[in-house]
Amino acid sequence: MKRTGLVYHDDFLLHHAGSWHPESPERLQSIMNYLSETKLLSELNRVEPYPAGIEWITTIHTREYVDSIQRICETNGYENLDADTAVCPDSYRIALLAVGGALAAADALMKQEIDNAFCAVRPPGHHAEMDRAMGFCLFNNIAILARYLQQKHGLERILIVDWDVHHGNGTQNAFYDDPTVFYFSIHQYPHYPGTGLQTERGIGKGEGYTLNIPLAGGHGNEDYIKIFREVLAPVGKKFQPNCILISAGFDAHWNDPLAGMQLTEAGYGQLTEIILELANEFCDGRVISLLEGGYNLEMLAKCVAAHIEVMLRGGKR
Ligand SMILES: [Zn+2]
Repeated sequence: MKRTGLVYHDDFLLHHAGSWHPESPERLQSIMNYLSETKLLSELNRVEPYPAGIEWITTIHTREYVDSIQRICETNGYENLDADTAVCPDSYRIALLAVGGALAAADALMKQEIDNAFCAVRPPGHHAEMDRAMGFCLFNNIAILARYLQQKHGLERILIVDWDVHHGNGTQNAFYDDPTVFYFSIHQYPHYPGTGLQTERGIGKGEGYTLNIPLAGGHGNEDYIKIFREVLAPVGKKFQPNCILISAGFDAHWNDPLAGMQLTEAGYGQLTEIILELANEFCDGRVISLLEGGYNLEMLAKCVAAHIEVMLRGGKR
């Protein structure tokens, strides 16, 4: 049995993007209720989030952008930042807490208080660009986490696996010319946000350190598992990561309202096994998983539970 950390805070429920919005506080409530019902919650090590320092946010975002989010939240209150990204007065503070949750997981992991971690945070992060909010995302939680692991904890190579059904444009751009952070994304294409073609492979020293697997809708467990085994695993073996981060969106589930993939709860468990196998081989099982999308409340909770069960047992049965 592994010591799996869980990052969660009730304040994550205070970010509201509008009553119609699929990225709702109910997503986290559904996850926490299900983890409690299934007794999984009692097996997890709670990790307390703290508000991330601005010096970490600005490893990825411009100071002007960070200040603008603060200003909008503290003065205007409610505002639409793009067609589907909005903030409320609490959003700036909660976005800092979401990033800080990921950083707290990194600290606990590196102090060997836990073996791996799942961060039930919101708002999500992988669409957030250096100077722009996008796709429900304010700060790029996972990109900031990768920089934190490198700069604070001295890890050299970070592998980011993004299985959210949408391409993580913000994360890709953050490390596009950087050979120390490998970005692997499997996503529906064509679909929001429109990036993530196979020809997008990185530039300069980062060429070959971005790998996109765009897929038409309709693909399920078997196709994903085959790609993870035959494409991701060899790439991971070659890269030899010091830590693996997962942009864990659960919106490739067959019953998700925002996309058209066919994964099941068990499928997410099997993908988790493949990632943990890699982590066990190269980095003492170090994996930090961050919630991104997933909009069917019931299925989201079940997918997270399947994911966490595998993390608790550290891989295959
Ligand atoms: Zn998504």
